[in-house]
Amino acid sequence: EKQRLPKPDWLRIRLATEGNYAELKTMMRAKTLHTVCEEARCPNIYECWANRTATFMILGDICTRACRFCAVKTGQPTELDLAEPERVAEAAEQMMLRHCVVTSVARDDLADGGAQVFAMTIKAIRKRLPLCSVEVLIPDFMGNWDALRTVMDAKPDILNHNIETVRRLSDKVRAKAKYDRSLELLRRAKEMQPDIPTKSSLMLGVGEEWDEILEAMDDLRAVDCDILTIGQYLQPTPNHLPVERYVHPDEFKALKEEGLKRGFRHVESGPLVRSSYHAHEQVQSAAAA
Ligand code: SF4
Ligand code: SF4
Repeated sequence: EKQRLPKPDWLRIRLATEGNYAELKTMMRAKTLHTVCEEARCPNIYECWANRTATFMILGDICTRACRFCAVKTGQPTELDLAEPERVAEAAEQMMLRHCVVTSVARDDLADGGAQVFAMTIKAIRKRLPLCSVEVLIPDFMGNWDALRTVMDAKPDILNHNIETVRRLSDKVRAKAKYDRSLELLRRAKEMQPDIPTKSSLMLGVGEEWDEILEAMDDLRAVDCDILTIGQYLQPTPNHLPVERYVHPDEFKALKEEGLKRGFRHVESGPLVRSSYHAHEQVQSAAAA
């Protein structure tokens, strides 16, 4: 048994309960709405909610895959809930969101992987909140490019698909996903809708080397990926993949520079950065570019 690494200082989280956050929290309790922000106990919740950014999980909460870093339950998914898009839109409206991230479990049991429900959710949010930007963080749909087209045709403001880790570790860390398939998804998304910014994410601390991170950046730029987020992997339970290393904030900063040098329009890189962190600013900088 490997000993768990002690957590460094920079991962201690600031607590703040004033302002918008407290207000939203009370409302969420009252309405029994569910966000990834709360369920994943995301350390950025105070800041994100204060900025009116939140992430919703659609297509149920049981995943057909079992990635070694992820705390989502694995099993037989529930029936498709076609009222879900409207519920998410209603919640987004009640939270008065400025930026809404919609993500899902992998639904490999569905022919379209749930793409239709993503499209319906984008449209439902647009109808209620025309000024809210909508980012979708999608699974790979097992390489079903018609499913990808369904999502792209609904015109999200950002198309996000996470590559998660470097090529060498991809098969170890991610279940069923393929490094090259994820790159192909990002390439095709850009071909289908060249004006929609694409985005991806790397989590560090699972055994990757510096040069491999740079190579992953090059691979993402080769498919014209616009936005990159880089964060520290944290082990959700002792049964999950152990943390190999806590990456120092200075290294995150250096990686941001490397990313910008390579032509990403926006790079968020830091220990607590998550895929949807500062997502609202990413829309703005992508639009300004
Ligand atoms: Fe929610 Fe994402 Fe912000 Fe975390 S980073 S609080 S999951 S919007
Ligand atoms: Fe978690 Fe996504 Fe992997 Fe499912 S596919 S286990 S939700 S990371």
